[in-house]
Amino acid sequence: MKYRQVNAIKQEPVKAVLVAIQLLVLFVLSGCGSTPSNFCDVSIRQSDETIIIGHLVKDADGSEYGAILVRDGQILDIGATNDIKSKAPDASVFDCSSSYISPGLINPHEHPDWSGGFPDPMTRPVYSHRDQWRGVAGPEYYAVEFERVEEDVQKFWIEVRHLLSGTTTLAGSGGVAGLIKNAGGRPGDEARYFYLAEMETFPYGFNATEELRGLSCPLAATESRDPRSRFLELEDKPPYVPHIAEGTNCTAEIEGKFYLDYVSKNPGRRYSLIHGVGLSRSDVERLKTLDVTLIWSPRSNVVLYGTTVDIPNALRAGARIAISTDWSYSGSYNLLEEFRCAENIDNAQWDDHLSGSDYWRMATEHGAYSLGVEKLTGKLEQGLAADIMIFRKRTNDPFGDLVSSEVSDVIATFVDGELLSGYSGSFDLSKLPAQCSHRIGQHFICVDYAKDYSFSHEELLSSNKNAVPLFSPDRQASCE
Ligand SMILES: [Zn+2]
Repeated sequence: MKYRQVNAIKQEPVKAVLVAIQLLVLFVLSGCGSTPSNFCDVSIRQSDETIIIGHLVKDADGSEYGAILVRDGQILDIGATNDIKSKAPDASVFDCSSSYISPGLINPHEHPDWSGGFPDPMTRPVYSHRDQWRGVAGPEYYAVEFERVEEDVQKFWIEVRHLLSGTTTLAGSGGVAGLIKNAGGRPGDEARYFYLAEMETFPYGFNATEELRGLSCPLAATESRDPRSRFLELEDKPPYVPHIAEGTNCTAEIEGKFYLDYVSKNPGRRYSLIHGVGLSRSDVERLKTLDVTLIWSPRSNVVLYGTTVDIPNALRAGARIAISTDWSYSGSYNLLEEFRCAENIDNAQWDDHLSGSDYWRMATEHGAYSLGVEKLTGKLEQGLAADIMIFRKRTNDPFGDLVSSEVSDVIATFVDGELLSGYSGSFDLSKLPAQCSHRIGQHFICVDYAKDYSFSHEELLSSNKNAVPLFSPDRQASCE
């Protein structure tokens, strides 16, 4: 078709000039040419309903073009665009027809109060247990440097970092109320968290080496110890999501065995296990039977211990795997970077065993399951929260596109049906709600600072000049 037009233009020079003028006028009128791909056309109305249109990623089979109807923060319906539009003719509409619409990512292992700083350049993968790099296992081990984040304005920045990468739920102690959904909590402090989950970082005490001292390695078969849990008095105990077997030595292995023994003796609660690097082969095989989700943090494992869990082996044993960043000092700055690290390891060590859809399921439905919220979020499904990530469609493979995404490929993030952040180049910014006027680089965030926070957007920017950046992996720990 195009070839014929060119020929016609050559044969009729006058007509060609007219065509050229017409094209130029169209170019100017449309504002720098045709609509860029992955553009979202927005119309905001006074309505409690929102329609989101695009290529919906509902399951591991791929995507299907359609629309989602959102009301009161929940997915009310999913279907063909015209059907959905006819059901809600007055709804606000985000027409992102050329992009992928996925459930928001769920990161079940961060430390929102300990994730603002750059990795200590002296960090080497020489450790065999976490107590060594923490500086509590003796002076012979180099203690890596890290710092707690004290101010809300800094914690908010960390949450924005995850939000811009499409994350809608972040688990770990700390963080700020609002914005991303926090999962975590301690008795008496539940109100700060959207989802209650017991994120016990050191269930065997601050010095597992000390606590488990006196036990022989390898462990005698009859010995058993229970990890610490702070929610045992509650009838409905929240999911238990502790750091376990974080290392490669026999102490790490014993933790894994003790924890799984404890799980088997105390059913009726959701259990997950963060790290699990030191799990023995036989304990990896117990994960499926005991319904314990392994929360994998490959970058942090490789950076500190020089190895990570054998995921193909765990999958063969039927284990459910979620994926997570851990903190900025040894982990990834966001889940997109964690995908990249996992993919490096998978290609280098496992002959490309894992597929893009494996990572997507780890970061959505399995992440939700690991926190016991799979009936509330983690899928594009009627009745679940409208926690949604829209990302750039480059090919017909949504999972491949997701795994190769940068932060600038994340077009929008919605939490409970509300637009919270996005990529400015994909929107006519004048059409967005007023609270979305806050710019950070090429992105915007939607916040009512005056109503919800004790700081302003300007203070957010000025207070975080030395923090881990929001959209670049600058100085992130290497996954090589
Ligand atoms: Zn951790």
